[in-house]
Amino acid sequence: MMLYKLNEILFNKQISSRYWHMEVFVGQDVDNVLPGQFFNLLCSNENTFPFLRRPLSVYKINYDKKTIEFLYLVKGDGTKRLTKFKNGDCMDLVGPLGVPFKLNNGARHILLVARGVGIATLTALAQYAVEKGIQCHAILSARTKDDLLAVRLLTSLGVHLHIVTDEEGTSELTHVKEIMQKIHYKFSIQGIYVCGSKRLSKLAKSFVIEQKLEGQIALEEHMACGMGVCFACVCNILNDENIESVRVCKEGPVFDLRKVVL
Ligand SMILES: Cc1cc2nc3c(=O)[nH]c(=O)nc-3n(C[C@H](O)[C@H](O)[C@H](O)COP(=O)(O)OP(=O)(O)OC[C@H]3O[C@@H](n4cnc5c(N)ncnc54)[C@H](O)[C@@H]3O)c2cc1C
Repeated sequence: MMLYKLNEILFNKQISSRYWHMEVFVGQDVDNVLPGQFFNLLCSNENTFPFLRRPLSVYKINYDKKTIEFLYLVKGDGTKRLTKFKNGDCMDLVGPLGVPFKLNNGARHILLVARGVGIATLTALAQYAVEKGIQCHAILSARTKDDLLAVRLLTSLGVHLHIVTDEEGTSELTHVKEIMQKIHYKFSIQGIYVCGSKRLSKLAKSFVIEQKLEGQIALEEHMACGMGVCFACVCNILNDENIESVRVCKEGPVFDLRKVVL
């Protein structure tokens, strides 16, 4: 169901040098929101710039409070303008949009692999998985310790965290692969869910193919309409040996990791 509304912002605060956290009241519509989906946000109520909405994944879904939360990196004009919203202001949202993550019924252990703000969409998945009694493991990669996100929330959900950073020299692929192998050896994970880095996604893709696991990826392509009309955000999928171009906003943003051409 489509939600297109002005919603009250409960908070919009800076949490580290480059990242902000926002909570928005969405009322009864919260029941339609699933992890992996995103909302398209109008970044300014005062003028028409930037004209295009900016997509943000759902970071946390609070069914009790009827709110959703976003975690965002301040990148360009749109996200800079988002930081100007104050508590009590209205946010013009379209969503929830896109295809959510799917969890296998029999899954007992899953691994989340994220770089930077890629953890936003995977945190909502962790929340959902934990509610279903699935144990989550996560590899969080970031440039610096200051760039690590969602650590407190993931820890409170009982997610087993493995942190790697560029500044400590622990984020290179060989080391991340060793961590993946150790987790899989110990817990026999059933699936890997990835977002936020092409290098890590390629590694996770080869790992799921090699180990015959489930794999899903949340892609973050540039978007224009966000609703499947403009075809600005296509990516390639390998279907029965044929390459198919599909829209990230409509057929995604969550795809089978084994099929996405990276
Ligand atoms: C489905 C989806 C979910 C997303 N979820 C989140 C989220 O939860 N948190 C978050 O911080 N970001 C998320 N993003 C990315 C976010 O939408 C962009 O960072 C934002 O639109 C940038 O807008 P801007 O006006 O600040 O920057 P712009 O001025 O539009 O761009 C600044 C720079 O970033 C590049 N850029 C812009 N958009 C993207 C993109 N989608 N991918 C790669 N490079 C880009 C531009 O080329 C430019 O170089 C998501 C993107 C998608 C498609």
